Order: sequence, then C-alpha cells, then structure tokens
Amino acid sequence: MRRCPGVGAAPGIGIGFTHFLGGRVEVQHRHLLPPEIEPELHRFGQALSRADGQIARVQEQIAAMEGDGQHYQILEAHRLMLTDVHLVEETRRIVREEKVGAEWAVRKALEQIQAVLSRIEDPYFRDRRSDIEMVGEYILRNLMGIEISGHEAVPPGAVVFAHDVSPTDIIHLARVGVAGFFTEGGGKTSHSAVLARAYGLPYVVGVHDCAQFVRSGLNVIVDGGRGEVIVDPDEAALADYRARTQRQAARSKRLAAAREEPAVTLDGERIHLAANVELIEEVPYAVECGAESVGLFRTEFLYLERPDLPTEEEHYTHAVAALRAVGTGHIVTFRTLDLGGDKLPASVRIPAGHNPALGLRSIRYSLWRKDLFKAQLRALYRAAAVAPLRILFPLISGVGELRAVKEICAEVCHELTVEGIRHNAFVPLGSMIETPSAASIADLLGAECEFLTIGTNDLIQYSLAADRQDEHVGYLYHPLHPAILRILRQVVLGAQRSGKPLAMCGDLAGEPLLTWVLLGLGLRDFSMSPRQIPIVKSIIRTTRLADAEKLVETVVNFRTEAEIEEVVHKVMRQRFPLELDEES
Ligand code: PEP
Ligand code: MG
Repeated sequence: MRRCPGVGAAPGIGIGFTHFLGGRVEVQHRHLLPPEIEPELHRFGQALSRADGQIARVQEQIAAMEGDGQHYQILEAHRLMLTDVHLVEETRRIVREEKVGAEWAVRKALEQIQAVLSRIEDPYFRDRRSDIEMVGEYILRNLMGIEISGHEAVPPGAVVFAHDVSPTDIIHLARVGVAGFFTEGGGKTSHSAVLARAYGLPYVVGVHDCAQFVRSGLNVIVDGGRGEVIVDPDEAALADYRARTQRQAARSKRLAAAREEPAVTLDGERIHLAANVELIEEVPYAVECGAESVGLFRTEFLYLERPDLPTEEEHYTHAVAALRAVGTGHIVTFRTLDLGGDKLPASVRIPAGHNPALGLRSIRYSLWRKDLFKAQLRALYRAAAVAPLRILFPLISGVGELRAVKEICAEVCHELTVEGIRHNAFVPLGSMIETPSAASIADLLGAECEFLTIGTNDLIQYSLAADRQDEHVGYLYHPLHPAILRILRQVVLGAQRSGKPLAMCGDLAGEPLLTWVLLGLGLRDFSMSPRQIPIVKSIIRTTRLADAEKLVETVVNFRTEAEIEEVVHKVMRQRFPLELDEES
C-alpha cells in the first residue's frame, strides 16, 4: 500500500482499479536535410488540421447533446490554441532553423510556453499549462500516427490516472461512468478540475512521482476531499474507505430527503437558500440540491476560460441558457463581471497596479471599460424580457459609484428602446457589500438600489487587511473575528433601515458551523455552493432562532476570534453531529 499526497481538486471518494490514460508521447530527435524541410512543414500543417478536425468533431457531439455551453467553449479555446503563434510559428521556426523533425520542434515550442506560464504566479495562468499540453499532445499524436483517444477502452468504474487530463477527457469519461481521476500535473483551478466538480467526480491533482509504480489494473482509492491517493490499499484501508463512502452516501441521502421541504426554523421563520454557480452545467445540480434560486451567478467565468471576449450576443445566449436551466419560479441574480485582482482573463489586459486587490478590479474595471460593461448589461436587459432576473454589482465602495453604474444601466435601456430591441427595463439592481466602506453605509446604498448582498470573501479580506489568497496571512483571515461580527451586525441594521432585502453569498453563507451565528445576527437569505444547501437546510429545520440569538449574544462580548470559535464550534458540533460530521 502506498499513500500519495496531492491536491484535492474535486471532492468525493472514488474506489476502483486504475486505468492509465495515454501519457506523454515520447519524441525522437530527427535531423533534416535541407530538401526535407518544406515537406516536414507541410506534414506539420496537416497534423494541425487533423487535430482541429478531431476537436471539432468532439465539439459537434457536445453541441448535439448540450448546445454550445461551457464544454463547447472550452474546446473552442483549444481549437484557437492550434493557431497560437507561440506554438505554431515557433514550431515552424525551429524546424526551419534547427533542421529538426516537427515532433521535436513541437515539443520544444511546448516546453518554452510551459516555462513562461510556470513563471507566472497567478494560479489561473499556471493551470493553462495543462490546456496547452493537451493541445500539444493532439498535434504530436497526429504527427506520429498514434490513436488519439483511448476513452472507448476505459471501463466504467475505473479510476483514471494520467499525466494530465483534458476537459474533453473529463466530459467523455464522466459519460463512461468512471469513479474518479488523479493526475501528476493539473491544477485546482484548471478547467478539468472545474468540470470534475461540476460532474461530481473526485479528482486529485499534483500526485507526483507515482508514474513509476502506477499501471492499469491496480486497486486504488482517490480521496478528492483530503487530496490523497492510496495505491494498492490494504484491507484495513479499503474497509475504512468503504465505510466512509457508505456513511457519506447515507448522510447525503438523509440530508437530501428534505429537498422538497422549506428551509424553515422550528419557530416558523422562513429562510431563503439559493445557489452560487459559475457554470450553466451546475444549474440542474443546484436545483436538485434544493436551491430556491441562483443567488450569485459569477459571470466572469465566461471570460476567464476563453482567449477572446464574448460578444453581447454570447452574453445574451449564456444568460438565457442559465434562465432556462433554472426554470420558471427560480430567479437568477447575475453578478456583472468581477474581473481583475486574482481573476485575470487571457483576453484583456488589466493593469495590475502595485496592489491588485486594491486597484482596478471588479466594478472599477467595468466602469473603466464601459464598452465591455455595456455589452453585458445590454445582454442582461434583453434576457430579462425572456424571464425575470436581477443584476448585482460587485465591490461597490460608495453611493457615487453605484449612481455611476445606474446611469450606465439607464443609458443602456434608453439605447435599447431607441434601437427598438426587445428588453425589460424593470430589473432589480443590487449592490454587493464587500468593502468596509459599503458595510458602514449599507443603509445609504440600500436606499439607492433594490437589494443588498454581502460578499464575505472580500469583506473579510478588506476588513482584516488579510489577502484571501496569501497563505502567509491566512491565520488572520478569520470569519469569527469580533470585528467581522460587528460589521455584519452593522450591515443587517443598515439594510433594515433602508427597508431593502439583504442576502449573503460569500463562502460563509454555506459554512454550517456558522449557520447559527448568521441567523443570530439577523440574516435570513443565503446563497452558497449547491452541495452545502442540504446541510445548512437540515440545521435550519432543527433550529430555534432564540438559541441562535442567544449564542450570538454570548460570543459578541468575547475579545478574540479564538474564544468565539471555541464556543461556536463546540455548541454546533454538539447540536448537529450529523450535519457536521466531516469525517463521515
Ligand atoms: C465574495 O467576495 O464573497 C464573493 C461572493 O465574490 P467572489 O468570491 O467571487 O469574490
Ligand atoms: Mg467578491
């Protein structure tokens, strides 16, 4: 038995036998004579068009089944990589100048690109390495006449091991019915990881140094929650994991049983539970988990994953697809682009500044690139004519900024009217409360828009001056800091004064250990990762609000987050052993 640590990229436990999916193609160095160069370049050109045709065929299959959604766009991005100058022109240059075979030149060009990408700190760009590598393997296999896909040979129930898996692999293998994935390469934020999560398949990336001993047919456990792979597990480990899988399934089943039930406390207070989504593909799962609406649709995902900008038409198609997927009776809150900071799309250059988190990000970037902002707003107002929706603006820091945004909205509606384009101008507009300034003037912001939503991920980072991504200051990033409790209480009071509805959509909203604290502070509307909904709902349905309020009254007088956490965790674990049994 061998325990191999990695990084959990998609939660869940998969038990099965390994299936080794291809691998890096080994290329040989071939020296060319001058007359061989032109035919070699021609051969390379043919390999490119064959690779393009193969990806296009997969795209067609996907379009036939799912339309031109997320998966389709990812493949579109891969097809565009087949024309990337750093890959294609560089390969041609290497063939010509170094007089080497195309395979060798492709590998060298790929390595150069990988070297540049790996020097970039941003995880998004680091993770693009796997996309370019996949595209490179397609070209190499075509050059060498190697069968492209071994998917047909993958048996259901297998745990797929590969140097890396492409989004296409995930899509195909999810349909085959595999039990999970683990790879040497890959990243937590890669498209493949996103898709594995969307399909609910466990996935561990960065499992190094196992290629020497992993081969097809070995027993294996992949634990996407802990980020660990156990190769050739002994009986005790297998028994332990089988029991854990059963406990997890039983727990999910028990919690899911309340899917149709309303999230209502024992004293009759109705709580609204919505879902945060990034992919249209996640929407059916969100509904299945009992989401009453989509409280946060992070639309910037549409930008991050592609090499060009979406048009107004694409924004529109995307929004309408999301509305249709949710179905009637469930409202969708589309958050406008939250680009910049850590979310840097490949397609546009956003000046980083000295401190990106405090610089040109989010609504500031949208106000700076009014053209992009207007394209998205036009699309959303048009989509609102199809089904009701709400528009939410991120990182608002003051009333002046909110007014500037509303002016653009009015301008967009006026233009659509003049152009005679069908739209619905009566869309509720909301402001996110993500900065300390917004929190302290929640009443003023509430007075100038239709709803407020707290984004705790950013609100905590800005309030405690602790970068949410920096592991060195992670110890300071604490949701139960007394300051955060006071700030949240202030926001609740501000929203009440303005008479506008208030929701919370940051990660805190879906943290079951904190449900009582949030209820006790007066919050009644939460949007969270879909899989958290049944857990939080179960807590709510067995909660008496007075108990939650009493807990908050006790802990608000404590001076440190450690003291608050100790009491809150103790009370919650005692009261909700099933919901908080993370080990199960
Ligand atoms: C937040 O900041 O809490 C939030 C919901 O936005 P994001 O996590 O996308 O920054
Ligand atoms: Mg945010």
